[in-house]
Amino acid sequence: MLIFDNRFLRELPGDPEQGNVPRQVFGACWSPVAPTPVASPRLLAHSREVAAALDLDEAALATPELLAALAGNGVLPGMATYASCYGGHQFGQWAGQLGDGRAILLGEAINRQGQRFELQLKGAGPTPYSRHADGRAVLRSSIREFLCSEAMHHLGVPTTRALSLVATGESVVRDMFYDGHPVAEPGAVVCRVAPSFTRFGHFELPAARGDRALLRRLVEFTMARDFPDLAFDPASDVTTWFSEICQRTARLIAHWMRVGFVHGVMNTDNMSILGLTIDYGPYGWVDNFDPGWTPNTTDASTRRYCFARQPLIARWNLERLAEALALLLPGPDELAAGLERYDEVYSSEFCSAFAAKLGLCEFTHDDVDLLEDLFALMHQAEIDMSEFFRRLAEVDLERPSIDVLQDSFYREDLRQRHSADLTRWLVRYAARLRHDPQSPEQRGARMRAVNPRYVLRNYLAQQAIDRAEQGDMQMVHDLLEALRRPFDEQPGREAFAAKRPDWARHRAGCSMLSCSS
Ligand code: AMP
Ligand code: MG
Repeated sequence: MLIFDNRFLRELPGDPEQGNVPRQVFGACWSPVAPTPVASPRLLAHSREVAAALDLDEAALATPELLAALAGNGVLPGMATYASCYGGHQFGQWAGQLGDGRAILLGEAINRQGQRFELQLKGAGPTPYSRHADGRAVLRSSIREFLCSEAMHHLGVPTTRALSLVATGESVVRDMFYDGHPVAEPGAVVCRVAPSFTRFGHFELPAARGDRALLRRLVEFTMARDFPDLAFDPASDVTTWFSEICQRTARLIAHWMRVGFVHGVMNTDNMSILGLTIDYGPYGWVDNFDPGWTPNTTDASTRRYCFARQPLIARWNLERLAEALALLLPGPDELAAGLERYDEVYSSEFCSAFAAKLGLCEFTHDDVDLLEDLFALMHQAEIDMSEFFRRLAEVDLERPSIDVLQDSFYREDLRQRHSADLTRWLVRYAARLRHDPQSPEQRGARMRAVNPRYVLRNYLAQQAIDRAEQGDMQMVHDLLEALRRPFDEQPGREAFAAKRPDWARHRAGCSMLSCSS
């Protein structure tokens, strides 16, 4: 049984208007909205860890009442349904009010340990924030969100989670390539779970409208509900709180960089106040190491959200949040220290993450060159990021050679051209490790614990989607299982560790994706 305690609804002002007529909502943080029921819901997959965190056992998951709630066909006792109101900067421009256009909150569940989780259906129908869209989601994007948010969690990356993936039995029309060829695709609903789905954009909107009173209420509420461990004085300590957000964001981005995750749409409405990965859309995993790679076709010309720019963009987004919060302070300078903390924490987290990936006990000033030269080489030689770091632990330091790294090359011509350079780099690396106080066994174990064998490469997700669209969910289940233990060798599952095959290099969904979902 889920127990609900809906503080967001209770403590923050709501929109007096009912119904889904698209509108600008002023002076309120949420609008009441009911999910739109679907024809024939079916539970396709669930996360056992998230179910356990919510104290839901297998029997509970099998009840028609829970299935109905996860599909948007009914509510459980204590649930209350609403959409939240936020704005955001999209691709560098202020976009005004956005809001939960296809997400509907079900309330805040409290588990036996007293932990609080917001439950949110994605794709459960229109809300006042849907503008001209339908509030629905297709199966392909729902599988991608379901699998990736769970995979990220098991990689140790802060993220929203996914409890369930439900097929609606209805179709949704999407023009996937934006080329005037809309197609009916199967629809689905994901139930997302996080301590808070609050975004930077929630604060930006009242600030942009000059609504200082609403901004203050939301800030005080968020500090009290979402940052309970920090003994702040909620009436005054916006600067300390902002600094905490900056540090969490810094840690998040360092995590993305260490695993090779590219979010693809780092708009401020997709930035979590808790520093969680949120809103899985046209994300991707770096295959061949390319700092300029973006998985998002909409971003292809400017590459605003490419791999290497993520740290800069996160800071830019924090600056927009600072501008909003400055409305509550004597001036923007009060928040400058938080932004500096972002720079410091990002750089130290990034260095320690890559030191661990290289098997170094600590990252010294001299290691900057070693790492940057490696990145340049990996880029030029088109070396696979995950495969390379995983195999690096196997290099014989007495006689460094690229033999064990053969599989990380995509192109034979580039392998030949760069093998001497890479061998020279390995010799430098081996020399550096001689000054490191670990035994080879210790180092190998440590490297395998941070360099994943299994990541959700786009081509793998796409294969699982192709099969699911034919009614076969086996690969979704198999991937979910493999991705639960990304650092373990899993005999029989080697195929899921393989780098992107040639056929997938330019196939839609396997390298780049559109935002259509
Ligand atoms: P996203 O790019 O997915 O983060 O979405 C940006 C904005 O568009 C948010 O306000 C979403 O709620 C809204 N949105 C995206 N897709 C849909 C949809 N199918 N129906 C309604 N609103 C949507
Ligand atoms: Mg979004």
